[in-house]
Amino acid sequence: MARITFEKTAQDGKARTGVIRTPRGDIRTPAFMPVGTAATVKAMLPESVAATGADVLLGNTYHLMLRPTAERVDRLGGLHRFMNWEKPILTDSGGFQVMSLAALRKLTERGVTFKSHIDGSKHEITPERSMEIQRLLGSDIVMCFDECPALPADRDRIAESMELSMRWAKRSKEAFGDRPGHALFGIQQGGLEEDLRQASAEALREIGFDGYAVGGLAVGEGQEAMFDCLDYAPDQLPQDKPRYLMGVGKPDDIVGAVARGIDMMDCVLPSRSGRTGQVFTRHGVLNIKNARHMDDPRPLDEACRCPACRSYSRAYLHHVFRSQEIISAMLLTWHNLQYYQDIMAGMRAAITGGRFAAWQAEFHAGRAQGDIEPL
Ligand SMILES: [Zn+2]
Repeated sequence: MARITFEKTAQDGKARTGVIRTPRGDIRTPAFMPVGTAATVKAMLPESVAATGADVLLGNTYHLMLRPTAERVDRLGGLHRFMNWEKPILTDSGGFQVMSLAALRKLTERGVTFKSHIDGSKHEITPERSMEIQRLLGSDIVMCFDECPALPADRDRIAESMELSMRWAKRSKEAFGDRPGHALFGIQQGGLEEDLRQASAEALREIGFDGYAVGGLAVGEGQEAMFDCLDYAPDQLPQDKPRYLMGVGKPDDIVGAVARGIDMMDCVLPSRSGRTGQVFTRHGVLNIKNARHMDDPRPLDEACRCPACRSYSRAYLHHVFRSQEIISAMLLTWHNLQYYQDIMAGMRAAITGGRFAAWQAEFHAGRAQGDIEPL
């Protein structure tokens, strides 16, 4: 089977565009990955997710190992067949969600033991077990098992955690082995400490990965601190491999990350917001439950080509949201995912055309304008 490769086709400043080629299809970068936590992007059919322009989904190892279990997904033909998504899937390692969701966690050199947040059953994830779960799921892009301390944390704690993650990265690589057609990404840690990030990057380069993630950000440090870190962290990683910023973010986080050399991102924000009535448009954020939309026959965004904007008014979307109708989550999620993918497509075209700075200025000006005036 062909190996997964990354080809950078253009660069403008630090922003890059290119393509990750996989046996299941190309991933155009910069890429935004919608999150399919429990083998579904909530409220969306897979073909609808693809229609927004998504080339790759993220699946959560922690959730899937607990329910329906990796072994069951494997028996049923793997995650792609199980959830009816034929394009590439990236799975996280389970590490981050064990730390944020599970109870009675115990961290040792070997790995993490914990109790399921669903039924209290006891489980263990080690680097070896994480690689096994992601193989059983049939993931195309596998993430190393790592530990991510919540910020703020003191420097000793961050250094100790980073060093553990680097030992786990080595074990992850050994357990992953050689699997043509599948990629393994290493994860840089080190909090907001430049020298620790550098040490982590060097340790990962020495092991050698198909791609590199900037981990340990978007954990409460705020955008300014995150951007300060992204001013150097991506540069510490190899130029010729994809760079993935995990768990980010808001539209302006994404644009700022791409400007600093990031190629891939994922976040639950567009889909989760679709279920809570928060809508992202070229003109910023609006809340559909606000009474100002009650009599408004206009679409969310007249320039958007998603079904919510093509066929429905703000008044209707307001009504179905207030009535707690399921179509509300479907339409608003579709719109938000479409908006995110439109940003990505806009950035790819702008980087290719050498006009990324102008594109960014227009993006920020549109958002600063705010939502259209009420009727
Ligand atoms: Zn729309």
